[in-house]
Amino acid sequence: MRIGIDLGGTKIEGLVLDRGGVEKTRRRVPTPSSSYEDDVRAIADMIAELERRAGGRCTVGIAHPGALSPATGLIKNANSTRLNGRPLKLDLEQLLGREVRMANDANCFAVSEATDGAAAGYGIVFGVILGTGVGGGVVIDGKPLTGAQAIAGEWGHNPLPAPGDTERPGPRCYCGRMGCIETWLSGPRFQQQFAEHTGRQLSATDIAQAALAGDTAAAAHMEVYCDRLARALAVVVNILDPHAIVLGGGLSRMTQLYGRVPELWKNRYVFSEPEYIVTKLLPPKHGDSSGVRGAAWLWPDERA
Ligand SMILES: [Zn+2]
Repeated sequence: MRIGIDLGGTKIEGLVLDRGGVEKTRRRVPTPSSSYEDDVRAIADMIAELERRAGGRCTVGIAHPGALSPATGLIKNANSTRLNGRPLKLDLEQLLGREVRMANDANCFAVSEATDGAAAGYGIVFGVILGTGVGGGVVIDGKPLTGAQAIAGEWGHNPLPAPGDTERPGPRCYCGRMGCIETWLSGPRFQQQFAEHTGRQLSATDIAQAALAGDTAAAAHMEVYCDRLARALAVVVNILDPHAIVLGGGLSRMTQLYGRVPELWKNRYVFSEPEYIVTKLLPPKHGDSSGVRGAAWLWPDERA
């Protein structure tokens, strides 16, 4: 059986999947905010408890924030900054006495949806997180694409393509650059832009609901969002040419994205004959469980 662990900023979630991908047990504990050493210990304790419940040794896959640097073997780019510069994979392998597979949480989301989720059966899959931040991961024939710097799929810090006059230079991003895709498409920014234009404080999903109910200001805001998302994704389509793009994160619940965004990328932005563009834009099947499930699926051939 397979263990998947999702190491988040506030919680550590773990589950056991059987050979067919059926969840056998699940556990969730708060992330110790005390130190890196306590994080490592909490993960090891979680694995011991899951194996006790599973009744035997399992493979271990871990979804983590940031990336494991191929150059140094250390975590980088993590928003849980105490992980940065730490040899998390090595420390866990020494503690557990076995190989541990690790991948960025957006990559695990993409693996989960490509393996037995919304994009099962599609060859090239781009998984997108539209939440507090904007991230992405690429899966090709069931395997995550890591890349030379372990940043494959990290499209959130590219600049918004084809910016209009009001979109230049764009908001300042925490990464130090201006106008990153994340500064236009994240949940907090979506709500902030709506409040600036209308003076109304609504959550992202409430804005989407209001648009569906005929609120013209909300509908106009949704249309602008769809257009920016279509521009940002068209660049991915032109380079990667995926069979399916799966959305995750809180904003993936905005149902109008799935019709309007492909319409826009087809007619305006993708470099191909519009009538024959077949790339699908899909809502997630496993939702918030995709991090832990994808981590478990980092061992696709496990036969135990
Ligand atoms: Zn940025």
